[in-house]
Amino acid sequence: MKLLSEYRDPELVLRLLGKIEARITRSWRIMEVCGGQTHNLVKYGIPSLLPQAITLVHGPGCPVCVTPRRLIDQAVALAERGVVLCSYGDMLRVPGSRKSLREAKAGGADVRMLYSPLEAVRIARENPGREVVFFAVGFETTAPANGLAVAHAAREGLRNFSLLSAHVLVPPAMEALLTDPDCRIDGFLAAGHVCTVMGCEEYEALAARHRIPIVVTGFEPLDLLQGILELVILLEEGRAEAKNAYGRVVRREGNPEARALLTRIFARVDREWRGIGTIPGSGLDLRSEWKAFDARVKFALDPEKSEEAGECQAGKILKGILKPPQCPLFGTKCTPIAPKGAPMVSSEGACAAYFHFAGFASGAETKESVASAP
Ligand code: SF4
Repeated sequence: MKLLSEYRDPELVLRLLGKIEARITRSWRIMEVCGGQTHNLVKYGIPSLLPQAITLVHGPGCPVCVTPRRLIDQAVALAERGVVLCSYGDMLRVPGSRKSLREAKAGGADVRMLYSPLEAVRIARENPGREVVFFAVGFETTAPANGLAVAHAAREGLRNFSLLSAHVLVPPAMEALLTDPDCRIDGFLAAGHVCTVMGCEEYEALAARHRIPIVVTGFEPLDLLQGILELVILLEEGRAEAKNAYGRVVRREGNPEARALLTRIFARVDREWRGIGTIPGSGLDLRSEWKAFDARVKFALDPEKSEEAGECQAGKILKGILKPPQCPLFGTKCTPIAPKGAPMVSSEGACAAYFHFAGFASGAETKESVASAP
């Protein structure tokens, strides 16, 4: 725990807050892209510690939250057709048009919660008479492991394993937000774990193209505050640059082995993001030479779009236009026990973060007080 406690040191937190305060001369609107960062920011009360001039808005960086209903419907349909449908735990509770995967499981479908795609390969190996599909959800962080699972299945000659790919990529989503007239963002905190795989070069190009500063940072309170400090300095000095404030983990070139694996297995495709729409080049699907492992091809899945639920404000939450307590359903009709949308389900969802850590679960704060907080 020593390694963690060092990055939560209260004295250093106060010192960084003082430095941020000293550099601020005007208001800035900062978006953290990653849901893991959102959770820790809210969990550690950082928005309320920062100077009033800084408004933190929360971005679309939760892969479960941005997975469209259509894909959940496809996964449910596959499970109900008799395949062994495997995925990470959060995906099981996200509502589809008709039902969630958990409800499909309750109805008798073989839906399994796994911690690694390689477990799905093992299930396929041990059950040669069953089709096994891994519902592969995630950003650049999880895609290499999912690609590796496909490579393992191919090497073993497993013909009963396939991937339902819902991978999404962060930089195209940031680009989409920057060209959306409803979004107002002065600077980005970029996700350190994504950059551990992909490096920083795409962010450098994005910063230059859109004249906006981007700081790559981590997840602990000191990482987040150091990232905010670096971003405030860039903003105050008018420097539209990408900076790596997570040097203990992230290298500019990323992880070359993981990037090579991604290039070998996946191709960039246009992808629909829940509540945001289709973003060009923002997804990863299997390359044509791996199509034998593509569940969409293998099971001829219906590409029809499904209707998004009308009441859920996930789109506005994911674009940073609304904060979770500003959704009329927040904490009343929509809770982690009975979620109406993915941001309340996922462990990285902004709505769940506010519900668990901003006092709503204990009734300590009102919706209005959090909505008006910086
Ligand atoms: S509180 Fe619930 S209904 Fe409202 S945006 Fe969040 S997930 Fe959707």
